[in-house]
Amino acid sequence: MKIEKNKVVSFHYGLSSMDSDFSESSGEQPMAYLHGHRNILPAMERALEGREAGETLSLSLSPEDAYGPRRPTAVQRVPIKHVSPQKNLKPGMVVKVHTDRGSRDATVIKVGRFNVDLDTNHPLAGQHLQFEIEIVEVRDASAEELTHGHAHGVGGHHH
Ligand code: ZN
Repeated sequence: MKIEKNKVVSFHYGLSSMDSDFSESSGEQPMAYLHGHRNILPAMERALEGREAGETLSLSLSPEDAYGPRRPTAVQRVPIKHVSPQKNLKPGMVVKVHTDRGSRDATVIKVGRFNVDLDTNHPLAGQHLQFEIEIVEVRDASAEELTHGHAHGVGGHHH
């Protein structure tokens, strides 16, 4: 079965940055996503389109294809009650900021008593990324997954 819109794809990945010592991998269980619903980076979806289980691929992404360029003016002062975690905040830490449009990652610059200064650039903004991907499974999405717009089960969302 080929990867196309409305398929659920499970894959293992290793991710490393060419511009920092950041690295991450999928661990024991593969990650699952619903193809064609912008659950993952668009450039990654394009690279996976038409592939099948068992295939492996290497993918180099420029910052533009990954998390965008770094914006120098992305520093914001935010009430601590809008971030998580809220305890033991330290400069350099990555936290979640809760906004009306969901939550996103930001990096702590300075911690005050009630507010925290955050760099709201994505932690991987401005970085060239290298992905090593192994496709584990491709299956049809369930009606419920299509309604929710994301994958359920192992490696996907749990409600
Ligand atoms: Zn769901």
